[in-house]
Amino acid sequence: MQNIAVIGAGTMGNGIAHVFAQNGFKVNLIDISQASLDRGIATIDKNLSRQVAKGGIDEAAKAATLANITTHTDSKSGLATADLVVEAATENVDLKLKIFRDMDEFCKPEAILASNTSSISLTLIAAATKRPEQVIGMHFMNPVPVMKLVEIIRGYATSDATTAAVVEMSKKLSKVPVECNDYPGFVANRILMPMINEAIISLFEGVAGVKEIDTIMKLGMAHPMGPLKLADFIGLDVCLSIMKVLHDGFGNSKYAPCPLLVNMVRAGKLGAKSGEGFYDYSEGPKSETVSSQFT
Ligand code: NAD
Repeated sequence: MQNIAVIGAGTMGNGIAHVFAQNGFKVNLIDISQASLDRGIATIDKNLSRQVAKGGIDEAAKAATLANITTHTDSKSGLATADLVVEAATENVDLKLKIFRDMDEFCKPEAILASNTSSISLTLIAAATKRPEQVIGMHFMNPVPVMKLVEIIRGYATSDATTAAVVEMSKKLSKVPVECNDYPGFVANRILMPMINEAIISLFEGVAGVKEIDTIMKLGMAHPMGPLKLADFIGLDVCLSIMKVLHDGFGNSKYAPCPLLVNMVRAGKLGAKSGEGFYDYSEGPKSETVSSQFT
């Protein structure tokens, strides 16, 4: 597998294109939006410059990485040569089903079709294609160039050969692939999101304040950041949508999203990206100032 296509040039897509290109693969980066493609390439350029500044790579490696990436707004031309496609478009079921139908139509019959979805069933996505045994989850973590894990999700029909190929490919990217099966939230979000939701419930019930909850979890569990801060970085809308997937998928009230989380999303307080969540980011993303709602 030498030719890779990445669909979606947003937060995850540009990071995924970056790591493939840096490891010598030819990448077709596809997005419906030229502005997203331009932003994606600018982000890759900036992140590569940071690697150069830290002495991790030299200018020649940066130039070679950028030369390995070509951008496309027409998915048909971008998909035709791909051996492996990693879809990282917006998290929306209907959109992903349509993209996978198109991938099935435009890609070579032997191509593997992977999705970076955080929560949508791979079995459902695979059923939109005529090659469900070649459909698999490759769940990279954010920021992709830094984080080592790739959660490899096997759908109901995913073959051993497809899994082995994707595991081997992840190792070529110097990542650590870990396999799991296709059930709601897979493993990472099935465990992480209820912990975040429980932190929000603790705040909602007045057990402790924002700083106290985050400090207890940070220092007590040696987590790099507290769960409320992490929720702000993931985006509270994303956290809510994953809790809904768990709640609907298991039909168990233990996954009910906290009413405070629901209200914050309704109010547009989505965390760092909207400027406010549990913390106030009006002075930048590193802010430690608790939102005035919680002081
Ligand atoms: P994003 O909103 O930053 O980027 C999505 C991109 O998809 C946009 O550039 C958009 O223009 C593009 N797009 C939309 N429709 C398209 C189409 N039909 N064809 C091609 N491109 C299209 O989203 P993101 O945060 O990068 O998330 C992408 C995927 O990765 C989602 O499935 C998400 O669940 C998953 N994910 C996200 C994170 C995270 O921390 N953000 C972590 C792991 C997995």
